[in-house]
Amino acid sequence: MRIHLVNPSEVSFGTAVITPRWLYVLAAATPASFGDPVLVDETLEAVDPADIQAADVVGIGIHTANALRGYEIGRMARDRGAYVVFGGIHATLYPLEAQELGGAHTVVKGDGDVVWAKVLSDYSRGAAQAVYEGGRIEASQFLPARWDLIPRKRYMWASVQTVRGCPKHCSFCSVWRTDGQRPRQRTADVVIREIVELRRLGFRFIALADDNFYPVTLTDLRLAAEQHNTDRLNELKSIRAERFELMARLAQLPSDTIFFTQITMEAGEDTEFLDAMRAANIKGALVGVESVTPAGLKDVYKDFNEAGDDLVERLRTFRRHGVYILGSFIFGLPSDRPETFAATALAAAQAELAFAQFVMLTPYPGTVDFNRWEKNMEAAPVQIGGIPITRRWLIPRALRPKLYWPHPTMAPEEIRQRTQTVWDSFYSLKCIWMRAGFIKSMRARLAFVLISKIYRQMYADTGIATDSARVSRSARWARWLAKPCQRLFAGPLMPDLKLPEICTTAASREQTSSAD
Ligand code: SF4
Repeated sequence: MRIHLVNPSEVSFGTAVITPRWLYVLAAATPASFGDPVLVDETLEAVDPADIQAADVVGIGIHTANALRGYEIGRMARDRGAYVVFGGIHATLYPLEAQELGGAHTVVKGDGDVVWAKVLSDYSRGAAQAVYEGGRIEASQFLPARWDLIPRKRYMWASVQTVRGCPKHCSFCSVWRTDGQRPRQRTADVVIREIVELRRLGFRFIALADDNFYPVTLTDLRLAAEQHNTDRLNELKSIRAERFELMARLAQLPSDTIFFTQITMEAGEDTEFLDAMRAANIKGALVGVESVTPAGLKDVYKDFNEAGDDLVERLRTFRRHGVYILGSFIFGLPSDRPETFAATALAAAQAELAFAQFVMLTPYPGTVDFNRWEKNMEAAPVQIGGIPITRRWLIPRALRPKLYWPHPTMAPEEIRQRTQTVWDSFYSLKCIWMRAGFIKSMRARLAFVLISKIYRQMYADTGIATDSARVSRSARWARWLAKPCQRLFAGPLMPDLKLPEICTTAASREQTSSAD
């Protein structure tokens, strides 16, 4: 009996940008008595059915975008006599669907780190249950990943999680509802151990794959102080101190180790935090800008973001402090108008973003938006190929609409075309080369151009193009570009790299910082 863990994908590129961390965490959660699991990441290559034998266990992790492919694999594995287990955010939200359409014998809801060992042990003694509740475990229970199993030369970036959960409540995002609003933050010590292991293996680009790397804002501290809520203030300060401790230790790693994370725009007013990020070599961050207008931000419950000139200034602050931004924008919001597209492209250029992504408003299960949309659709149910549009992920990809919200003034195709135009102009060779101007070395500048092109091919054309020739051309391009990119990102092996020392000064300075 072997354990297989599968990350489903309809498109394989041979080389991938970021490691699917969950595969390596569940590998760590697999008791040694079951042997090393077989890890299959279909963004590299598709699963080979011949590898799956009767009585094997096949664990499949799904989110909404890859659920349909996951179900295909589940049915195939069950037909071959394997025991099929589904987990991940989509299976947590729709356990019955995984059973009915994916051939699941068992569904694991919530965090899998702890409960996975119980699933395997129950199965091996013939007592597996249909559903397991993994719940939300504490940060101290998060498992470090089994990086010794990684095919090092097939990924550009490794990924390490430092915090789960986000205190915000954006309407299009499921993180705060599934991972919770209380930040569950790992200690600097366990994070740094994983990072050092990855650096020893030759990964010098590491994504801090967090929901929000900045879980405590200056406003949070100020409000707690004004309310004389000492317990809350101390709790917030301790979370913040741990962030500074982590960054101080990251700063001691070899200087060519580069980090990337996700963060809210509020960090732009916290220059002390930005300076610590720069010192830690956290050179890039995904910032959810979403909209450049106040009405757009209101549409998505994100009015803590800036708009207009203030937005441009706030984003430039990141750059002035050495943190380069991947800005994420949403098109198709009710308040968007044709001129919003050009205004967004202009703001992205003025804000000196290094990268940008332009996504179309899509209702994701587990979000406030999805619930509202599902309710609206009850009155006039729409079906495509016999599948209700409110189960849009089950519609075959070729028939799937690109936009789901009826927009008050624009047709879906107009929104799609205008979105594609913004991608095309932001990632034209001329614009990429101009953006690369801040990079001194020619090698690094070429890496920037390559990664810009690959990013666009992987995420724009395969995501929003309707023309299938364009989609497959893009996948071919991405495959072709991915290999040289991986070589550019790789670093030397450093088997003797030591753990950075604990830095008490950063922590103690923060404990007594500005909010007092
Ligand atoms: S979009 Fe970002 S800031 Fe908003 S809830 Fe999700 S993780 Fe938090």
